[in-house]
Amino acid sequence: MIELVSESRCIECGLCIRVCPTNVFDDRGGGFPVIARQDDCQTCYICEVYCPVDALYVAPYGEYSVAVDERVLEGSGVLGSWRRTVGWGPKRPTLAELDTTPFIDRILPSQPQLSADELAFILGKAAPALDGNPDTRP
Ligand code: SF4
Ligand code: SF4
Repeated sequence: MIELVSESRCIECGLCIRVCPTNVFDDRGGGFPVIARQDDCQTCYICEVYCPVDALYVAPYGEYSVAVDERVLEGSGVLGSWRRTVGWGPKRPTLAELDTTPFIDRILPSQPQLSADELAFILGKAAPALDGNPDTRP
């Protein structure tokens, strides 16, 4: 859940306040976000990817809060790392460019391999030649 708003980094654009789907932040005034309803955080990371200056940290624990130290997070490069990973921000490789695995393959159950005859039946065609040579098709 959301654990940190960096006062030194925040430019008070108010984006995180507007995009949070569960209204976790209050506007302290001038667009600075205050974590007002931490228990409502869905750990969705939307605020992190929208923040243009990497001023937010959402810990990967949805059920409980953890103590964080901004200097440690900054030193480890964690601040803004999810935004970098998903390719938000100018001139960054997109997640689609980095991830060449078709997403659909991950969410569908694995499919059995079809034989040439089964494939031909489904396609309504003669089975392709097993040696790949079209001249030897049955
Ligand atoms: S992680 Fe999602 S739910 Fe939590 S504060 Fe950010 S935008 Fe709101
Ligand atoms: S999106 Fe980032 S810079 Fe903008 S108000 Fe929120 S924490 Fe501050």
